[in-house]
Amino acid sequence: MALTVSQKCKNIHPSVTLAIDSRAKQLRAMGLDVIGFGAGEPDFDTPKYIKDAAKDALDAGLTKYTPVAGTLELKSEIQAKLMRDNGLEYELTDIIVSTGAKQCLFNALSAIIDPGDEVLIPSPAWVSYPEIVSMVGGTPVMVNGLAENSYVVPAEELEKHITDKTKALILNSPNNPTGSVLDREVLKAYAELAVKYGFYVISDEIYEKLIYDGGHHVSIASLGEDIKAQTIVINGVSKSYAMTGWRIGYAAGPKNVIKAMTSFQSHTTSNANSIAQHAAAVALTNGERFMHESLMEFTARRNLMYDMLSSINGLKCSLPQGAFYMMLDISSLIGKSVNGKVIGGSDDFAGALLESKMVAVVPARAFGDDHCVRLSYATTREKIIVGISRIEEFVKECE
Ligand code: PMP
Ligand code: GLU
Repeated sequence: MALTVSQKCKNIHPSVTLAIDSRAKQLRAMGLDVIGFGAGEPDFDTPKYIKDAAKDALDAGLTKYTPVAGTLELKSEIQAKLMRDNGLEYELTDIIVSTGAKQCLFNALSAIIDPGDEVLIPSPAWVSYPEIVSMVGGTPVMVNGLAENSYVVPAEELEKHITDKTKALILNSPNNPTGSVLDREVLKAYAELAVKYGFYVISDEIYEKLIYDGGHHVSIASLGEDIKAQTIVINGVSKSYAMTGWRIGYAAGPKNVIKAMTSFQSHTTSNANSIAQHAAAVALTNGERFMHESLMEFTARRNLMYDMLSSINGLKCSLPQGAFYMMLDISSLIGKSVNGKVIGGSDDFAGALLESKMVAVVPARAFGDDHCVRLSYATTREKIIVGISRIEEFVKECE
């Protein structure tokens, strides 16, 4: 009998976002002129003061295991950040550092989900949420938001999907892939539901520093002691400090949940990288200037991409309020053909666009909406101009 892999692993759909990104990087390495709107990572290099901190960490011999939940230095900076930026008071034992926000999510869901528990996920949603829920034995319950409502799911709609098995709700504001931002009123309504029915909220705030037009981030945990006691806040340095490769994320939440996450992590990856932990601590102490400059640049890129896309006949999009993603509605092209191939949905569109125009976008089927593709504007303005012009040519070729 042939040896097989587990049923659990057979059922995993590999991350489409990471797959598209590595395909675009591979084509570029082959010398092809690929414009990448797929990558969910800032194109800027990590600021020098952070790189210098990593060199200092090496020179100081910070090359050993650290406590599983993170160094005192980094946890103290996270504690100060959560108070300063979010008005949230946590003890050091309520905080854990992990290998990226992705591991924090995996730890958090592993800590709270039993087989058969349901997890509410407003959709469109980042690809990894439903996969992680399934991997830990839970059932993802996707609740669709509408484009005309900036994809925000009204609390009344969410309430219809609550059952006696609902164990958690995953929120992501600013949102990947829609770019929408949840305001205080919506968050209050969600918090009331969580407290009334008794379920956890996992609040993924990784794009917190990328909110445009003077908008402000609100953490649902800051809306009262009741909801704070049920919320696990997830954040990290990947997006705000251009540190995707360093793999540092963190979570803060109820003591018993953080303790369970720490036990879980003690048998999986132990601590996050010791050198990156020191660099992340320094990043958090001194990042205002870099973040201000990157927000200005992302604002200009967002406006440029939106203006160019809105002027193309046959495509629709709306101006995102946060993160660095835009959903592009390709409904009017579905059923048309390009280069003799019918566009049946977002995968066909993304595949044909990459093949014929060397522009990488992510099919939003992966996020739960097959009528859209997701574009990331974490790339230069020059590339945005070239890439969107190629999309315009592509659309004209569809018949
Ligand atoms: N949450 C969201 C919404 C994301 O888009 C990503 C992608 N980076 C993550 C979490 C994971 O972040 P990290 O790189 O810190 O693991
Ligand atoms: N989160 C980013 C994205 O959505 C990076 C890739 C990933 O981790 O999914 O593109």
